[in-house]
Amino acid sequence: MRKTAIFKDDLFLKHDPGYGHVESPSRLEVIYEQLNKPELNKKFLFPSFSPATREILELNHSEALIERVSWTRGKPSASLDPDTRTSPDSFDAACLAAGAVVDGTKMLFDGEIDNCFALVRPPGHHAEADRAMGFCLFNNVAVAAHYAIQRLNKERILIVDWDLHHGNGTQHSFYGSDQVLYFSTHQYPHYPGTGAAYEVGTGHGEGYTINIPLPGGQDDAFFAAIFNSILAPIVKEYQPECIMVSAGFDIYKEDPLGGMNVTADGFAYMTRKLRALADEVCDGRLLVTLEGGYNLTGLRDGALAVLFELAEGNGMDAATAKHLKNATLPSNVLEETQNIAKKYWKM
Ligand SMILES: [Zn+2]
Repeated sequence: MRKTAIFKDDLFLKHDPGYGHVESPSRLEVIYEQLNKPELNKKFLFPSFSPATREILELNHSEALIERVSWTRGKPSASLDPDTRTSPDSFDAACLAAGAVVDGTKMLFDGEIDNCFALVRPPGHHAEADRAMGFCLFNNVAVAAHYAIQRLNKERILIVDWDLHHGNGTQHSFYGSDQVLYFSTHQYPHYPGTGAAYEVGTGHGEGYTINIPLPGGQDDAFFAAIFNSILAPIVKEYQPECIMVSAGFDIYKEDPLGGMNVTADGFAYMTRKLRALADEVCDGRLLVTLEGGYNLTGLRDGALAVLFELAEGNGMDAATAKHLKNATLPSNVLEETQNIAKKYWKM
């Protein structure tokens, strides 16, 4: 059995963007409730972890942004962006969320754990170096990838972002770098507006940003096909030392913010595929961090499916697994996107 770690903390429930906001504490409550069940609880490790210090946050963020977010500490409510609001504990929760992903990265490279899921809020992938936006205060995965490169001297980190939305912040943090390969599937055009296929990186980073913009309506088999036909060969060629996942559950079929058609089986399959690829190229080092997902049932079931797969349990039945494993893209689909990726990668 794998040593699968879960990073959870009640402080993440104290970040409250305000009454009626979709990015609510109940998103984590519904998952944490399940993890308290003894049959689930005993499958996983629950290591302790620390908040990211300012010095660590500065690996990805400007001093001005950190100041601005820390200024909200203890204040009843503050607005950082039209849809990004804080409560008294938001700054502390955001530091702990980034710290969970950083500590998870360290534990993976130390060999203390095999893989992990950071069940954190606030999410991160929209946060730019100098700007909080899109429900995100600090960019948890980007801070962790910088940590791996700058502090652990790693050279190749893969970030796979399957959230409904494009991770503009993550893309921009590494746009000129070949040390982080950013691979994103997202509904397009949609918030935040970035993520066109022709956004491929610049300078040393050219070819190390891969965007797969998609119309709504895509299902489990379609996402499986993208992972089988486009992502898998790129991972084998890039040979990352760790795979990080920005896991958004807003591609779930009933998500109020999105128009995708994914079920828990789709999340299970994408995780199983990444687990297999991580086994092949980087001793299984796989770190999943929570981004979006606003239908509570879809979020809960999707997150549990990911956890079962990380721990090598069964997140889906055998017939579904076989069907998704064999999924391929029809020949005339995503042609332009694939042609752009083919300029840089053997596919
Ligand atoms: Zn999202």
